[in-house]
Amino acid sequence: IGMAIGDGEPVLQFKSVCVVGGGMAGLAVARELRREGHTVTVMEQSGDVGGQWLYDRRTDVEDPMGAVAPVRVPSSIYACLRLISPREVMGCSDFQFLPREGAGRDPRRYPGHRELHCYLRDFCHVFGIMETVRLNTRVLRVAPAAMSMSTTTRRWAVRSVRRLGGTEDDDGALEDEEVFDAVVVATGNYAQPMLPNDIQGMDEWRRRQLHSHSYRTPEPFHGEAVVVVGCGASGKDIALDLGRVAREAHLAASSEAEATTPAMSRMLANHGDVLRLHPRVRQLRADGQVEFADGSSVVADTVIYCTGYAYSFPFLDTGGAVTVSDGGYVVGPLFEHVFTPSLAPSLSFVGVPRKVLIPWFFEVQARWVAQVLSGRHALPSEEQMLRSVEEQLRAREAAGVPRKHTHNIASVEPRDMYEFGGKYCDFTPTEEWKKELILSSNASMDDDVETFRNRADGDSENVRKGRQGWLGGLVAQAQEETAVKTEF
Ligand SMILES: Cc1cc2nc3c(=O)[nH]c(=O)nc-3n(C[C@H](O)[C@H](O)[C@H](O)COP(=O)(O)OP(=O)(O)OC[C@H]3O[C@@H](n4cnc5c(N)ncnc54)[C@H](O)[C@@H]3O)c2cc1C
Repeated sequence: IGMAIGDGEPVLQFKSVCVVGGGMAGLAVARELRREGHTVTVMEQSGDVGGQWLYDRRTDVEDPMGAVAPVRVPSSIYACLRLISPREVMGCSDFQFLPREGAGRDPRRYPGHRELHCYLRDFCHVFGIMETVRLNTRVLRVAPAAMSMSTTTRRWAVRSVRRLGGTEDDDGALEDEEVFDAVVVATGNYAQPMLPNDIQGMDEWRRRQLHSHSYRTPEPFHGEAVVVVGCGASGKDIALDLGRVAREAHLAASSEAEATTPAMSRMLANHGDVLRLHPRVRQLRADGQVEFADGSSVVADTVIYCTGYAYSFPFLDTGGAVTVSDGGYVVGPLFEHVFTPSLAPSLSFVGVPRKVLIPWFFEVQARWVAQVLSGRHALPSEEQMLRSVEEQLRAREAAGVPRKHTHNIASVEPRDMYEFGGKYCDFTPTEEWKKELILSSNASMDDDVETFRNRADGDSENVRKGRQGWLGGLVAQAQEETAVKTEF
């Protein structure tokens, strides 16, 4: 631990911090920790950074449902995926996601997945993040380190395995255990499939079934009748993708709300030849029949579960201080979705909230963690934090918010999301034109999921002006990048 005395500032402490995961959240954490002066080690199990955005054509063929934790292939991205949020709002606060020229780049407002990966690589390059990252390094266990007689400070033992030469199997892998002052968990929440528990006969089904986590391209389903369970963003994308080659694509909605959107009506009207909508699936039968809640049925070759993802931290060994509950929907207790009260501040989580503006919100969380670890900001007492967690849960329950939305902040309390940065770490607020663009983009997606990404018109005057200024930042950012690159 190093010490520094600023000009009238508190005495800051610099910690050695292990960041688990090198996706968008982990990279934002690495950047903020370094900015604050901490020593950072990012451990990433894949052969590159980027997390979900590192497209992997492989899938886990032995476990296409992803029933075993942890999954072997972390990314759930399919080949045709384009962002559902406009690039103007998807950049880091001091490194915008600006369109770029060059081979393999995709300057569209809603680019394909590869463009976001290129951007994250650029981000690492500009801020020298790669020198903190250990690739092909999977964290196996995070547990409190044994305390010595001379110290009462909690530290963390991190056991990891490093695949030499980046090979898939663990032969020739190197296991190691190191001790850090703090650990930030940034392992994402879009890798471990959530499977439905209200469909009978899944075990008896003899034909193909997989989770969208293992879906990449439509070709393997050529000429088939496929049932897609769930009509969220992935369910709709995958049904449309399948519609190009499958004989029939049957969408099973899990709720009335999912089934009756304008986007759904439009999809069905445009692709009525292959696409059908049904209520939720009730039962799968050994002879290939899929039975829906209204008693109707179809014979299918494949069932694809687009039923979302569970929180999962198989490497965490905290003796029950932090657990995953409610069928994989809730992690807790977490003060403001970040700190485990009894282990704060040395164990924290960045990236737990869903439906938030990212990476902006990850940056805010990351800066808060970095500044609490350094002592720039203090946390409330353990009791106060626990009380706050309980009060928040109770307030949401009283407001009728289902437990499964415990970590959905933006859709329940958008103001809380935007005010978080100002409340905890003096983070620059998001510009109004960006908030407006998010709302209009969401409305446009709800209206027509197939074409909203290609609509070029419809920006308000406010958004147009904001965007002009944003594009004007291209030159300034290029100059700054050159300056920062030479610093590292
Ligand atoms: C199909 C799909 C489409 C999406 N589309 C959008 C979109 O359009 N817009 C949007 O904003 N968001 C979208 N998302 C959400 C997306 O997950 C987030 O944008 C973002 O990737 C979350 O970043 P993260 O760093 O929290 O998690 P991840 O990107 O999942 O990164 C976590 C990292 O942790 C690593 N890791 C996990 N366990 C270990 C371990 N034990 N040891 C070492 N490393 C480990 C993983 O390998 C991974 O690299 C989409 C997600 C999916 C699945």
